[in-house]
Amino acid sequence: MTKFEALGLQQSLLDAVADMGFETPSEVQEKAIPILLESETDLVALAQTGTGKTAAFGFPLIQKIDANSRTTQGLILSPTRELCLQITKEMQAYSKYEKNINVVAIYGGASITEQARQIKRGAQVVVATPGRMKDMIGRRLVDISKIDYCILDEADEMLNMGFFEDIKDILSNTPDEKSTWLFSATMPKEVSIIARKFMHSPQEITVGAKNSGASTVQHEFYTVGGRDRYPALKRLADANPDIFSVVFCRTKRDTQRVAEKLIEDGYNAGALHGDLSQNQRDLVMNSFRKKQIQMLVATDVAARGIDVDDITHVINYQLPDEIETYTHRSGRTGRAGKSGISMVIVTRSEMRKIQAIERKIQQKFISKKIPTGPEICEIQLYHLANKIKDTQIADDVDSYLPAINEVLKEIDRDELIKKIVSVEFTRFSNYYNKSKDLNTVSNGRDNDSRKGERGNYGGGNGSVRYFINVGEKDGYDWMSLKDFIRDTAGLGREDIFKVDVKDSFSFFNSESATTDQILSTFTEFKVDGRFVNVEVSKNPGGGGRRGGGGGGRDRGRKRDKAGYGKRRGDRGGNRNSASNSGKRRSKKRSDFF
Ligand code: ADP
Ligand code: MG
Repeated sequence: MTKFEALGLQQSLLDAVADMGFETPSEVQEKAIPILLESETDLVALAQTGTGKTAAFGFPLIQKIDANSRTTQGLILSPTRELCLQITKEMQAYSKYEKNINVVAIYGGASITEQARQIKRGAQVVVATPGRMKDMIGRRLVDISKIDYCILDEADEMLNMGFFEDIKDILSNTPDEKSTWLFSATMPKEVSIIARKFMHSPQEITVGAKNSGASTVQHEFYTVGGRDRYPALKRLADANPDIFSVVFCRTKRDTQRVAEKLIEDGYNAGALHGDLSQNQRDLVMNSFRKKQIQMLVATDVAARGIDVDDITHVINYQLPDEIETYTHRSGRTGRAGKSGISMVIVTRSEMRKIQAIERKIQQKFISKKIPTGPEICEIQLYHLANKIKDTQIADDVDSYLPAINEVLKEIDRDELIKKIVSVEFTRFSNYYNKSKDLNTVSNGRDNDSRKGERGNYGGGNGSVRYFINVGEKDGYDWMSLKDFIRDTAGLGREDIFKVDVKDSFSFFNSESATTDQILSTFTEFKVDGRFVNVEVSKNPGGGGRRGGGGGGRDRGRKRDKAGYGKRRGDRGGNRNSASNSGKRRSKKRSDFF
């Protein structure tokens, strides 16, 4: 018996669970589902974003709906249109094996007549934003006077957005005997007021602050001068060629401005904020979901609750005013057990905020340095080599080959490789050639002595940076790669640090005392028949020694033989990662051939 079965869900829902690929229930699901199935009760459930709240109320709701009746029996209120659509889609997926269950979304900015028509056809479950719901009740286009279940999803955010009055109005149109289920990431005063006023002795469940979703997020901050925020953002993007991120700004204006600049500079970026038309927002969200946009620049409100998988980085271009908001932002990544990184660009005067957030999230930030030009160039070079290796050869290339061969016939293999790489790379290295260090000298924190893992590598003086030819494509994240290196080389807990996992390669640091041990372990070392190769990186990187020799330099320059990251799955294949800066251009493959 799997654990989902133990919760009391009927077979048709278990089949849907299996189709969705859920194996074990999350904590909030494990706690909420049995309660909701077994009793008619009000419920307050507190759990962070990314903990699977939708399924926690969605499955019980569907099991309790009477499919033979067309009456609207369940109402789900959610703060934004995007979230409303997302919940609707999830509910439809959960109920795919149910007969005759209709879930209809009601939200602003789309045809009210069409939505009314869908309701009229019989919607047992309505998912709505408060504004449009109130509107439709007023026009008698929807009847919620007989609902049995009312769900307030992301209640804290709905109240943050000023929907208190609307919610009150809506609830006054519902029967007293219904059950109300309130789901929220946090419990500010307004939420407890709602709970007190509109709920009858609700049962309460709280999922610990350290839920699996959140603990897989690494929090990092980068201290820069106030005017260097934008160049710093660019470098963070350039140092992570396969980045798939949400960049948070404080105001709509900044959001628009940063997105425009990024696009101008050739990044695959888009803006999401409230001043855009619904149509524009839909377009942006669709491109983002398809990963055509790598950097979604967004306001907090617009991005709230959006559940896009595989977001690798959340970048706080500016810190939010409310600490609470930070948890919502960083909750966009590290979802469903995956790991993620939340980066904060701060000025020195904002250090106090970092400490306040640390207290709130009960996790330490790692102080990181904005990558230098040479570091970025190194990363981009490896990335480029991998890209060439992984590129599928276009069908129609063959017919041009004789002519191409003729042009290139004088050039030997080594030289040809250098030239191919230079085509893309020169632009890049030109851009970063004389770039300055963006890091402010001191941020009041000793960088290397507090890295979450609290290494004994104080000051980082003996620290050596390494390159390793495995990365995310091989299924590693910073935690598992660290474990792998440590265990393989027989090192201690604190010996490996500053692990930066890229798509098909990674970097890490160790004290120089362990360098021999590491290099000898990873000589001729194979996993699954493939060489795993470690070399000392040219750039000390990651806040360690800068400008110094950086340890052993290039060991033997064997990299072109190194057996770069074997491609697993097709991640990144559609990510259109135009990997050059300065004049980064988004090129489709067809532009090349
Ligand atoms: P929340 O509302 O708490 O922020 P969601 O309901 O949006 O979280 O779920 C976050 C992600 O986790 C979604 O992609 C969802 O499909 C996935 N998910 C939910 N429950 C499970 C589970 N039991 N196993 C695996 N993935 C899950
Ligand atoms: Mg949710």
